[in-house]
Order: sequence, then C-alpha cells, then structure tokens
Amino acid sequence: MNYSEINRIAQDLIREHSLLATPIKVEDIARSMGIKVIPYPLEQNMSGLLVLEKNSAVIGYNQNEARVRRRFTVAHEIGHYVLHRDKSDRQVFVDKNFKAMFRSFESANEPTVAKLETEANVFAACLLMPETLVREEVGKTELDLGGEDSIRDLAKIFDVSSTAMHYRLLNLNL
Ligand SMILES: [Zn+2]
Repeated sequence: MNYSEINRIAQDLIREHSLLATPIKVEDIARSMGIKVIPYPLEQNMSGLLVLEKNSAVIGYNQNEARVRRRFTVAHEIGHYVLHRDKSDRQVFVDKNFKAMFRSFESANEPTVAKLETEANVFAACLLMPETLVREEVGKTELDLGGEDSIRDLAKIFDVSSTAMHYRLLNLNL
C-alpha cells in the first residue's frame, strides 16, 4: 500500500466517526470501532500491543511513556487493526520501541514484517495529523516551516512529537 492510499483510509476513518478536529481524539476513534484501549504492564522498551480475539480487540499502551508517544502508539495499533487484521495470521502485534524495531527487522531480514510496521507508522501519522487539518493550520499563518519554532507550535496543536510533525510536513510536501 502506498502513502496516499493509507492517507485516504485514515482520513475516511476520522470522517466516519466525525472526529476531524485538533487534536485528534485517537482513543475515541479506537473505542468507537469497538477496540478497548488500556494501559498495559509492558517492559521498558515496549511501546504497545494489539491483541485480536474472535470478536474483540484490545490495544495496550505503555503508560510510562510520554503522552505524544502513547498517542502515536495507539494510532499505530489502530493501523494494524485497520490494515492488517485480515491479511495476517498474527493475532498479537507487539511493538517495541519503534526505531529499535526497524533495526532488528532489517537484520532479521523479514521484509513482510517490516512492511507492516512501516504501514502502521504511516497510518499513525496520517491519523494524528490529517492532511486537511495540517493544510488548514499551515495556511492560517505565515509559518516558517523551516523553523523549529513553527514545527513545535504545529506539533502542540496536533499533540504529536516535533519529529513526527516534521516528517508529516515533508511527506505532504509542505
Ligand atoms: Zn506495529
């Protein structure tokens, strides 16, 4: 799946639940899809997990991580639920610290798994920073998007990390 397809799926999902406003209420989206969201006793290097059962799904997140990180984790797990639950035999998706995970997957030479994780990350970015809202916020003021202050301000509006905001702007060619 490419970036714009995932972007569209995420945007449709937000519209479907009438939650297109900053900051995106990511846990409300999960709940209105029937997914339980709970803090979960996870090891320090674990960010979250998605457990799929026959008629239910649970997202667990590491409550010791910063709020922006927890929001990204929940959005990432929703990504697995939306994009991968029918395409994978996996019933449990466990997510370690995302950066570390990419490295370990590369070395493990598991392109399929790495692809699922990349897709879930793209989905999370699109869900937390919907294109229409990002363009709206950028259009409101003469933002100097090369400047760190502007990115930090935007990140605050969307309740995401500055790094996540930075990459979203790049991917939207803003
Ligand atoms: Zn994942």
